[in-house]
Amino acid sequence: MEREDDITYIHRAIELARQGESSGGAPIGCVIVLDHRIIGEGHNSVDQLHDPTAHAEIVAIRRAGATLHRSRFKGATLYSTLQPCGMCSMAAIWAGISRIVYGAERDQVHQMYFEDRHLQTIDYINDAFADDLSLTGGVLGEACAGLYYRPTDNPPGDEQANK
Ligand SMILES: [Zn+2]
Repeated sequence: MEREDDITYIHRAIELARQGESSGGAPIGCVIVLDHRIIGEGHNSVDQLHDPTAHAEIVAIRRAGATLHRSRFKGATLYSTLQPCGMCSMAAIWAGISRIVYGAERDQVHQMYFEDRHLQTIDYINDAFADDLSLTGGVLGEACAGLYYRPTDNPPGDEQANK
């Protein structure tokens, strides 16, 4: 089910993803929303910051913490252009985020965007103690998938972060 708000915020995440790409990073954008207000947003900044944890979701989570002056964001929704990886799914769980919404599914994009072969975001969420976290994928899925190398593409080796 696509809610109107979901589409608005995924559009914002796509804008951020494009900013990330034009500054030399991977085109992944993330927005965190609480009570109809953006409390944190960001794009993948791994290469710019020389920080392997600076995924878009982690950047946005850090900004949300700075905005709220707390480390738990109950009731917040995390929007990402791409299905969050294991690290970011786990960070969302630790942040107490209530809902994760993403655009492209991992089977729509090249495997270089993920760290493992089989584990899915839903596996982390289903196995977490958080029983009030929901997941919605495929919002503007094709538009988001268009940001990425596709499964059968052959990206340059130096762009392949998981090699
Ligand atoms: Zn991640």
